[in-house]
Amino acid sequence: MTKRVCVYCSSSNILEDKYIEAARVFAEAASLLGYCIVCGGSSMGLMGVIIDTMLKNKARVEGAIPEFMGDMEIQHPEIKNLTIVDTMSKRKDFLRENTDAVIAFPGGLGTLEELLETYTLKRLGKYDGAVIIFNQDGYYNKLLELLEHFVEKRFLKPNYRESLIVVNSVEELMNTIKISGREILRPEHY
Ligand code: AMP
Repeated sequence: MTKRVCVYCSSSNILEDKYIEAARVFAEAASLLGYCIVCGGSSMGLMGVIIDTMLKNKARVEGAIPEFMGDMEIQHPEIKNLTIVDTMSKRKDFLRENTDAVIAFPGGLGTLEELLETYTLKRLGKYDGAVIIFNQDGYYNKLLELLEHFVEKRFLKPNYRESLIVVNSVEELMNTIKISGREILRPEHY
């Protein structure tokens, strides 16, 4: 069955080339494997790179953009499967729905918020896909340190920390998506 993979990533257009290149290589591999990529649907930043690459390869890509963002985030002009929603919450629900995995590429506040929402839903048994961080060149090391601190202080159970998959290269990312299955975590508390 076709893998459906949601990507959270930066909307910045002034990134170092290495981030753009990794997003492009990922999208090339995803389109070769016949994956459907779901993302924010804008032409900005890494989102734009991924959509451009998927469309160039005639691969399936879907997006969702809130109506009010019309002027802020230019929607990709060529994406056919773009759903217009009315709130950010609905956008996040749409992006996550029925996906086998969500991946956080390097990003800013929006990416972090999207990642943490899905990670929290995973922890509550409400998302069954894999939650993956692409820690390119250690970009997310500080977030990972914070999570370790939560575990150390017993604010986060070790098994919930372990449910967050960290990969360091596009190759590792593709291998992880290939083998990851859907799993519901049972919510438990300290
Ligand atoms: P950023 O990582 O800040 O470049 O944002 C990446 C994506 O997250 C973009 O598509 C933003 O529209 C989206 N985003 C920005 N702010 C939020 C928010 N408060 N909640 C959810 N998504 C957001």
